[in-house]
Amino acid sequence: MSNRPVTDYATSILSAQGWSTREVSYVDEAGIEKVNLIASPPGQDIADCAVDLAFLCHTDTVPYAKDWSQALQPVLQGEMLHGCGACDVKGFLACLLTVAESKDARWIDGLRILLTADEEVGCIGSKRLIGSSNLRPRRLIVGEPTSLRAARAGKGYCLAGIVIHGREAHSALPAQGVSAIYAAARLVSALEELGQQLSTETHSFFEPPFTTLNVGTINGGSAKNIIPGRADLLVEWRSIPGLSPERIPTAILTMLERLPTQYSGSRGTLDILRQQAGFETAADSPLVKRVERVTGLPAVSIAFGSEASAWSTVADEVVVFGPGDMRSAHSERECVSIPELNTAVQAIRNMMQARFDI
Ligand SMILES: [Zn+2]
Repeated sequence: MSNRPVTDYATSILSAQGWSTREVSYVDEAGIEKVNLIASPPGQDIADCAVDLAFLCHTDTVPYAKDWSQALQPVLQGEMLHGCGACDVKGFLACLLTVAESKDARWIDGLRILLTADEEVGCIGSKRLIGSSNLRPRRLIVGEPTSLRAARAGKGYCLAGIVIHGREAHSALPAQGVSAIYAAARLVSALEELGQQLSTETHSFFEPPFTTLNVGTINGGSAKNIIPGRADLLVEWRSIPGLSPERIPTAILTMLERLPTQYSGSRGTLDILRQQAGFETAADSPLVKRVERVTGLPAVSIAFGSEASAWSTVADEVVVFGPGDMRSAHSERECVSIPELNTAVQAIRNMMQARFDI
């Protein structure tokens, strides 16, 4: 589906308050129009690239289960508002629009609101926006549910497919075949060793404090009496900031080069399916200090992937921040606390209206 209804709704609220908006749209792989939206407060030139502080919010959600009848009808239970996208991340969007509606506001110079498409399928909208515009915010707050903490670091997320090729033959005649499964077993052992090696390189701000590596699936063979000709593996790793993005792919390629000598006749190929680096903003950076001060809460790291990784390549300081707890997201339990929404509105209003004292 197009996200246009969401960006049109946001545009109507922002325009009514005198904000300027600019659409950076594209057509996705399925031929559907997707919209990224840039907004600047009254009196600020939207074409001006000297952006000091931007607030970014994605406009998509993950799909919801068919039997979740109230997914699109927010329900209040006690202090919690339930619904699809409540914390990931429509709650933060509502906070941004609420602050934009502030009467008699004096906005800081170089302020922007950025709304993006297709975050949940690989941060595609953000990557498009970075690639197709000259938008280079010095400081960026990415809305995601962090229970109002300034998340200043996150692990990367990478996924790769490995195919091991052997040669099929009748199992009664092993000399005529090459078992892709026996070859894959050598590779899996080498991957386990790599994981152990990575666990010795630590970053104390994370729990667990090292890069984790997982062989998530292995599929191979076609019948009990056929020597397997092919085995497929899915390997993912979540890297600590600072780990070179080439480190693990290079290690796996070296293992694959060695495979024919370890298990004669076999060979393997590697296909990187996703590669998102980690990010880290210094603990003493003005943005981290500012979010800590307005919320009264210490900075944390996050275990989930976000648009912060892509933007940290162009922005000086990036913090992930927002109401709600990611543990309820992507499920029928998704909810956001009304008091946290109110606190977020105050924190965002504070940051949008008072300059950093540096
Ligand atoms: Zn999200």
